[in-house]
This record gives sequence, C-alpha cells and structure tokens, in this order.
Amino acid sequence: MLTSSPQHATPADGHIASYYAASRNDTTRYPVFKGDMTADVVVVGGGFSGVASALTMAERGYSVVLLEARRIGWGASGRNGGQMIAGISGEAAIARQLGEDGRRLVRDIRYLGHDIIQERIATYAIQCDYKAGWMEAAAKPRHMAALRAHVEHCNADGDKLEIVEPQDFRGVLDTDAYHGGYIDRRSGHLHPLNLVTGEARAAASLGVKIFEDSPVLTLTGGSNPIVTTANGRVTAKSIVLAGNTDHPFQRGRLNGLLFPTGSYIIATEPLDDATARAINPQDLAVADSNVVLDYFRMSADRRLLFGGRCNYSNRDPNDLTATLRPRLVEIFPALKNVAIDFAWGGKIGIVITRVPTIGRLEPNVYYMQGYCGHGVNATHIAAHIVSDAICGTMEKLDLFDKIKHIRLPVGRFAGNQMLALGMLYYRLRDLL
Ligand SMILES: Cc1cc2nc3c(=O)[nH]c(=O)nc-3n(C[C@H](O)[C@H](O)[C@H](O)COP(=O)(O)OP(=O)(O)OC[C@H]3O[C@@H](n4cnc5c(N)ncnc54)[C@H](O)[C@@H]3O)c2cc1C
Repeated sequence: MLTSSPQHATPADGHIASYYAASRNDTTRYPVFKGDMTADVVVVGGGFSGVASALTMAERGYSVVLLEARRIGWGASGRNGGQMIAGISGEAAIARQLGEDGRRLVRDIRYLGHDIIQERIATYAIQCDYKAGWMEAAAKPRHMAALRAHVEHCNADGDKLEIVEPQDFRGVLDTDAYHGGYIDRRSGHLHPLNLVTGEARAAASLGVKIFEDSPVLTLTGGSNPIVTTANGRVTAKSIVLAGNTDHPFQRGRLNGLLFPTGSYIIATEPLDDATARAINPQDLAVADSNVVLDYFRMSADRRLLFGGRCNYSNRDPNDLTATLRPRLVEIFPALKNVAIDFAWGGKIGIVITRVPTIGRLEPNVYYMQGYCGHGVNATHIAAHIVSDAICGTMEKLDLFDKIKHIRLPVGRFAGNQMLALGMLYYRLRDLL
C-alpha cells in the first residue's frame, strides 16, 4: 500500500510522504491499544469507512472502540484525489440486478455521503478546504452521448447537472484535451486527510476510543464477538470491518471479491493566482470519462493535484513524476515548466461487478469495501447503511446483500494479474 516517489520520500509522522501529509492540520497521536475492553461496536480500520461508522454510531449513543493498524487516514482515505463525486460505482449493475428497488436505492443514496460530509464539516468545524463543483470531461467525442444520457437520467430525478457543450469547453477549462462534459455543482473537492482526521477528532470528542498502530490480528463473530491485537482484545456486540484492501479477513462471502490496484497523484508547486485562474477559473475538480481515468483539481494553496493510473502490471512504478507529468502537460501545456513537489500513490479496491460490497460475514460482523476508486461519498454512504443495520434498519444493507458478485477463485496474486490485464485492455480501448 505504501508508495511514494523516492525523491520526495520524507518522513511524515507515520503517513506516507504526500501533499496531504505535509499540509495536515491535525497531528493527534492516538495511543496503542492494550488490555481488555468491551464496547457496543468495535471498528477495524481508521479510514473514511471506519471513522465515519464510528462517528455515526457515537452520534447515536453507542459505545465504540476503533482500532487502526497504522495511523488514522494512513490508507486510501488520506491519499486520494479528494474528489467528492455523486453516487457510487456500479449503479448500472445495481439497477440491472435489482430492478426498480435498485433504481430507487441508487437515486436515494446519490448525494447521501455529500450531505453527511457537509453536515459534519459544519457541525464539527472541520477545516478540509471543501469547495463545490465537479466535472466529468469527455475524453473522446463519442463519450458525450453517454454523458448526455447520464445528465438526462439524473435531471429527471431532480438533479441539476449542467451540460458543457464542446464549443463552450474552453470557457470552463483552458485546454483542448476534452470534447465537452457536464458539471455537478453539488459534488466538489476537499483535503481528504484533513476530513478523516477531523471526523476522528469529532468521534473522539463523543467518546469513541481510538487506537493507532494497533492491527487487528483475529476476529471472531458468533455469540461472543471478539477482536484481538498483539496487546489485548475487545469484546463487542457488533464488529465493523473497514480495512479496505489491506485487512487479512477476506474470507467467506468476501473471498475472491476484492482486488487492489494502484492509483497515483503528483502535486505541482503552488501556481500563481493568474495561472490558476486561467487554467481552471471555476476551481472545479475534474475526472475524465475514460474507464482508466485521469483526474485533477486545485489544492487550497493552488497546486494542481493530478492523478491517474501509471502502469498495467500491478506493480508500483519507480518514477511517478516521469509517468504522470507528460499527461498533465498534454492537458495544460501552459504548465510545461512547472515543478512537481510531491508524488505518491495508494491502492484502490476493485470489485469486478463495480458494486461496493456492503454486508455481513456473520449476523454481527459487518463489512464495507470495494468502492472502485469512488469512495469519498460512497464510504460515508456505506457507513450510514451499516450503522442503520446495527441499529436494526436492514433495508438498504439487504439490497446490497442481494447483489451477485463475480468471484475470481484464483487467489489474490493471480486475480491481480488478471485484473491488470483487464485494465490494460480498457486503457488500450480508451486510447482508440
Ligand atoms: C490514489 C487514490 C486516489 C483516489 N481518488 C479518489 C477520489 O478522488 N474520489 C473518491 O471518491 N475516491 C478516491 N479514491 C478511493 C477512496 O480513497 C477510497 O475508496 C476510500 O478512501 C476507502 O476508504 P476506506 O476507509 O474503506 O479504506 P482506507 O482509507 O484504505 O482505510 C482502511 C484502513 O484500515 C486499516 N487496516 C487494515 N487492516 C487492518 C487491521 N487488520 N486492523 C486495523 N486496521 C486495519 C488500514 O491501515 C487503513 O488505514 C482514491 C484512492 C486512491 C488510492
């Protein structure tokens, strides 16, 4: 999981070296877990999924222990593109498999994570540079038809997505690289590490007991649910498994479902105000319409954060800057001389059906993972659904539980190689 370009690998207090670690505003160190504790809920993993679940359950009056293997936000949640994108991945598969129930589910949850995040930013005064405005840009002229259909579909549900016609695109972004797109002003972007640590601070203020450097080693459900670490154990009524691609409990219903793949980001030096306003005057977060997509946005201090996949072998590339920078310059030739200050990466949890896996391993062991690179909003949705289920409202969890997933019964290594080949296929198709 740990990736950072060697030339930028400075110690970051337990986080990988990244722009986010360098600009984090909460340096709280939570203690290592020791001893024997009981709680209503024990959460395994301190990314968005785990922290949002812990905070939701604490807001509802439950006692919660959260165990994080490294640091809060160490994983994908503290490293991602910060794009808060409506909906979840795999919506078409949900609608196809569940019919009207699926269509209603997708519609009902489309902005649920956004609402939760915005409410928390306001309630707990979380400083995470939130900005409204996100765009999907057509990487090929032929992609506009699908984008138009998506806008029509969402706007029929009452959303207010705005089409950007190809001839108007230059007024939105200073580039010839795209062929139109659409803007969603309810989506946006933020500093993800500052959001997750801010939510953790809020959870702690409500009594959640948070521990870092405390990997969970064993997990037992059934009538006496217990998780253990090297130094002790927590007995709880419910266990929430929120360890993303890293945890060792991919068994039973999770076996053969989740495959980690790398995504990488470079951050430029801060741009001067005039350049920043010229290239992205509305300060939008942007993702292109390719399957293997590029994405970018401005940080609060006007760096361009530019991300994408770098290779198709499923091995981390040696030099992220050398791979990503030419793509950045192709889109914004005006930035050809800009310096790159940071480069890092992380793992995205891919599920072949693209639908996040949210469900139960046992009646009191819940899991949420597999957001397919679309997790800022979706993690908060999943945390809400799992929290509802723990409180007795099973409706949405049951719908996710009905999704039929494709398993690769070949082990993770072989599965990853197959996935890498699949990604290569899509990348080549994107280039045609
Ligand atoms: C480079 C990159 C860019 C991305 N860009 C975007 C984007 O712009 N927009 C978007 O919506 N999504 C994006 N994503 C996806 C998004 O970041 C993830 O979907 C989301 O953060 C997943 O959150 P999580 O809490 O489930 O997992 P994580 O944040 O990975 O957290 C899991 C945590 O569990 C801990 N853990 C694992 N095993 C154990 C154990 N045994 N005991 C205790 N703790 C354990 C890990 O240490 C980790 O901290 C991106 C991902 C990456 C890698």
